[in-house]
Amino acid sequence: MGEPTGFMKYERELPTRRPVPVRLRDWKEVYEPFPDSHLERQAARCMDCGIPFCHVGCPLGNLIPEWNDLVYRENWSDALDRLHATNNFPEFTGRLCPAPCETACVLGINEDPVTIKQVEVAIVEHGFTAGSAQGDEIAPVVPSVVTGKKIAVVGSGPAGLAAAQQLTRAGHAVTVFERADRIGGLLRYGIPEFKMEKRILDRRLAQMAAEGTEFRVNANVGESVAVADLQSDFDAIVLAGGATAARDLPIPGRELRGVYQAMEFLPPANKVQAGDLAEHPFSAAGKHVVIIGGGDTGADCLGTSHRHGAATIHQFEIMPRPPDARPDANPWPTWPMIYRIASAHEEGGERVFAVNTECFLGDEDGNVRALRAHEVEQTFTDGRMSFEKVQGSDFELPCDLALLSMGFVGPQRNGMLEQLGVDFSERGNVARTEQWHTNVDDVFVCGDMGRGQSLIVWAIAEGRSCAAAVDRALMGETDLPSPITPDAAPMGVR
Ligand SMILES: Cc1cc2nc3c(=O)[nH]c(=O)nc-3n(C[C@H](O)[C@H](O)[C@H](O)COP(=O)(O)OP(=O)(O)OC[C@H]3O[C@@H](n4cnc5c(N)ncnc54)[C@H](O)[C@@H]3O)c2cc1C
Ligand code: SF4
Repeated sequence: MGEPTGFMKYERELPTRRPVPVRLRDWKEVYEPFPDSHLERQAARCMDCGIPFCHVGCPLGNLIPEWNDLVYRENWSDALDRLHATNNFPEFTGRLCPAPCETACVLGINEDPVTIKQVEVAIVEHGFTAGSAQGDEIAPVVPSVVTGKKIAVVGSGPAGLAAAQQLTRAGHAVTVFERADRIGGLLRYGIPEFKMEKRILDRRLAQMAAEGTEFRVNANVGESVAVADLQSDFDAIVLAGGATAARDLPIPGRELRGVYQAMEFLPPANKVQAGDLAEHPFSAAGKHVVIIGGGDTGADCLGTSHRHGAATIHQFEIMPRPPDARPDANPWPTWPMIYRIASAHEEGGERVFAVNTECFLGDEDGNVRALRAHEVEQTFTDGRMSFEKVQGSDFELPCDLALLSMGFVGPQRNGMLEQLGVDFSERGNVARTEQWHTNVDDVFVCGDMGRGQSLIVWAIAEGRSCAAAVDRALMGETDLPSPITPDAAPMGVR
């Protein structure tokens, strides 16, 4: 523990976000740089409380008090080692994780918690910064043994990448198959540039390629790549294809032009930024945009629509507005269901809670021109939640671009999964044993494909744990870490 009274001396401090009018003119990340001297003070706020609940809040089991202490002592190099011991990609989580560690921080019981996520990203950025004392620390970790085993990883999101890096470093020959034209899964084509610039992803992929992981893009397993070929050519297959089946809104007018899924809207926006597309095929520029779904994907559509120059933007959510502070039924250290303001919300648009969309209205050419909605009241019968219409609350809103952001129902079943003949769980995800094994010989599953829609930190934890199971299955034993079991869940109240 660096400074015993640090938590009493220093206030929580975060980097400032760039001014809205400035950041809306570009797609760069929204945060200003945060000086090391400030960061070291933030690390000094860690109390080394004895039973660090932050470890449990983080699915990776990140060694948070250890690296806080090392950062306080300006020992960035050892801090990086401790960070990489549990997390393959801290530069992704340090930018994108909602930080359940911070809501479990013991200081957070009666004070503002330690800025764990900020310390995390600062450590890894130190490691990547060319020319610094640590500039070459994130060099490829080339395996010292070659096992002769071949492993196919299907899907290149954070779960597939974490599994691939662990297995490559264990000496196996790993090939990642990705049906998209670039590697990265939702890190590449879901998350907008203003949340994580893609150069951050590319530099980690360069490290992985140098370690020996092979990447194949435009390789759709079950279509352009035969499932049978994978089964005959590889000793094990890791399915990490994500939960890509989006929840739909089957209401009148759904078929109108201008009503799209969020994941039809976000990937082309990223392709424009990458220079792969000249312009977005249905940009929000000048349009009345309604985003249906109040979550993070909706916020990504919001920030993207702002940058396109939308005329108006409304974000609809059927749930009531959450409280500003933890309700009693949602105590520390569980994840608090409170009102949150993402950077995109600061940039404008109107958030509308407790509303339900009844239908989309079209013009004579089949384009959406408006939607009809009403307010709802949340009710519970025998513990089951439902929504009652508030009589007389109907309204119509101009809308020439509607973006559906209501989450994902599970993995895509047709194609690869049907051809393999995998079983599904009650929740509709690919079923697996405690050893991450599907019902099909030598086929394992991790990430959103087995867990359902989740978070990057869980995907990395799944990829690491699944890699350990694959290594054990192929070699009889493993030294790879396994931070979670397949049925691990966020901390909750029982
Ligand atoms: C818009 C959006 C924003 C998000 N923002 C955040 C955030 O800020 N923070 C956070 O923690 N989480 C966020 N999430 C959730 C997070 O991105 C996911 O939980 C995580 O990416 C899941 O990782 P994964 O590796 O399991 O799957 P994915 O990232 O979905 O990757 C799966 C990959 O598999 C490929 N694939 C599927 N089938 C095949 C096949 N047959 N052949 C070849 N390739 C195949 C897909 O093309 C895809 O690239 C967001 C999700 C969305 C949709
Ligand atoms: S990965 Fe997420 S939960 Fe874990 S330490 Fe980082 S910010 Fe916290």
